[in-house]
Amino acid sequence: MSVALFTLGGTISMAGTRRLTGDDLTAAMPGLPELGHAVEIQDIEKVPSANLTAAKLLEVVDAASKAVAAGAAGVVVTQGTDTLEESAFLADLVWPHPQPLVFTGAMRNPTLAGPDGPANLLAALRVACSPAARDLGALVVFKEEIHAARWVRKTHSTSTATFVSPNTGPIGHVVEDQVRVLTRPLRLDGVQGNAEPAELDTIHVALYTVTLDDDGLLLQGLADTHQGLVVAGYGVGHVPATLAPVLGELATRMPVVLTSRTGAGSIVRNTYDSPGSETDLLQRGLIDGGFLDPYKARILLRLLLATDDDLAAAFAQYS
Ligand code: ASP
Repeated sequence: MSVALFTLGGTISMAGTRRLTGDDLTAAMPGLPELGHAVEIQDIEKVPSANLTAAKLLEVVDAASKAVAAGAAGVVVTQGTDTLEESAFLADLVWPHPQPLVFTGAMRNPTLAGPDGPANLLAALRVACSPAARDLGALVVFKEEIHAARWVRKTHSTSTATFVSPNTGPIGHVVEDQVRVLTRPLRLDGVQGNAEPAELDTIHVALYTVTLDDDGLLLQGLADTHQGLVVAGYGVGHVPATLAPVLGELATRMPVVLTSRTGAGSIVRNTYDSPGSETDLLQRGLIDGGFLDPYKARILLRLLLATDDDLAAAFAQYS
């Protein structure tokens, strides 16, 4: 049996001015011969992850689907870490297969002392081949930790321990050559409709982070250019009182999802009641983003708008 490897670029592939291919990344990798699976490589992109698009990622997921249909035990995708949490979540929403779809990368490029790419890639390949990792959707493997795509975050700009799941912790570990899954999150429905890459390009969803003494000027005219909005509010989901009617009016014209800018935890629903509080905003028609961080909420909203899925039901799964 084989395991499929798709490469999209990023730090893991940056050897000075040269961009490493999948063959380069797997050449002479310690531990690979013992994997017992041939690695079938497709080099798709050699770009910083800032240049990846949702449409391109849907194409990669489609190619990954074809690989498992052709018999691959699982799939690994390597890419830059900057947008990896968003890519993995997008893939998780549309990945229907029991086979693992594993994202990884590196924080230290191959020209530095102690590059983390080879260890991350080997661990990701082990997870992708493992029966223990089936039915878990898309995963992120970094530093021999296994994270569910729907909870993982990049939390540090340079540390190799950047990927954490603040609300849950890792769901498993790679120890020696063994994949050990400690907890199995329920698979959620994801996005039911068929998200066409070209359709996604026409859906514009804004992310607005509320800050101290916020004037809200950027929100003016937003409904003319965007089909949806995610608000990263203070704490448990608050905004200045002056912004509450602005967001309420926008919510009559487009879906507006309320999340927290804090990086962990959920918004609340009925603890505070002043203008601009979570209770006020939810009453004005904003959608409860639950435990979703703003970046993932934006990915979900965009896909839902492209597929005409039931928005409320889809977001309720994350609350
Ligand atoms: N800037 C790089 C990227 O996301 C960082 C990385 O790969 O870790 O492409």
